[in-house]
Amino acid sequence: MLRQTLANLMAAVSVSMLVLPTTVFAQGFGTGEGLPRHEITNVTGDLYRFRDSRTFGMFLVTADGIIVVDPTSSAAAAWLKTQLDERFGLPVKYVIYSHLHNDHASGAGVFAETATIIGHENIRKNLQRPAADAPLLSREQLWDINHDGVIQRAEAEGTVNAGGFTELDTNKDDSLGRAEIWARRFGGEQVPPDIYYTSQASITLGGKTVELHYMGRNHSDDMTVVRFPEERAIYTTDFLTPKRPPRTTLYGAYFPDFVESLRRVEQLDFDIISPGHELPGTKADVSEQRRYMEELVAAVSAGIAEGKTKEELVETILMEDYDHLLEYAESRPGNVIGIYETLISSR
Ligand SMILES: [Zn+2]
Repeated sequence: MLRQTLANLMAAVSVSMLVLPTTVFAQGFGTGEGLPRHEITNVTGDLYRFRDSRTFGMFLVTADGIIVVDPTSSAAAAWLKTQLDERFGLPVKYVIYSHLHNDHASGAGVFAETATIIGHENIRKNLQRPAADAPLLSREQLWDINHDGVIQRAEAEGTVNAGGFTELDTNKDDSLGRAEIWARRFGGEQVPPDIYYTSQASITLGGKTVELHYMGRNHSDDMTVVRFPEERAIYTTDFLTPKRPPRTTLYGAYFPDFVESLRRVEQLDFDIISPGHELPGTKADVSEQRRYMEELVAAVSAGIAEGKTKEELVETILMEDYDHLLEYAESRPGNVIGIYETLISSR
């Protein structure tokens, strides 16, 4: 349903009444052991971030209600709603999705009575569960050694799907088809957006403005960077984390587009970056991430041109200038493999 708050949406926002069924799957992401499960911290002014173990969302408080970015999970959203009621006594009027992955976009149903949910246009297609016999994506076909169109347990060894194989194999045929792999990130408790935008949108509420920017394909093809102009802050998730490389295998990411999207974020006007994981940083951290990915993609591309194997690239592309980054040792080999497999499978 359209609510009066929609009148506050400006520019380039396309309205959609699309309602899709939401399937429910167990989530298999990090537990953040030893960290506080939930926590709210102030970023600046009326802008806050909230924690759901190793994941963070944000919210901006205005006189007319609250704008939430990434509800993260149903449990976190329920906790957040109670906190917002107690602390501010204001309803959540908007929920913005950074992208559709279930560890960031789940839980908006908690705010559905008062909030309009907004996300990028590509979320619409990403919500569509593939048919049971849908073909594997090009990178997944590299893992399908026997070319039978599914990933057997042995084929999954060393790929992104090795760990959660049993959980993902919902039809229990000891192999993973496209729909089962899709469910790993897209299946969950996500509520479809009420509104989709394509390149840029802004919300004004209670005299404050929040901007939504599509910066192209990176970690996903439906990624929004949220900018808070008055607070001089941005929120980024998964493709841009201060002082940490992207997570391991870069599964589902797009190259070389990823690097271009980092360049575009660098051009935005802001001082603070508050990420969906880890701690806030500054524009210098954005530039460092851009350099890391730029150098990594260039090195892998050069290696492919020289006919090097994946193993040779992992052994030789060491990125030692970046060994101070969080999880460098775990992420560097997987980052090389992810870029290599994506580039060779998209040629
Ligand atoms: Zn993600």
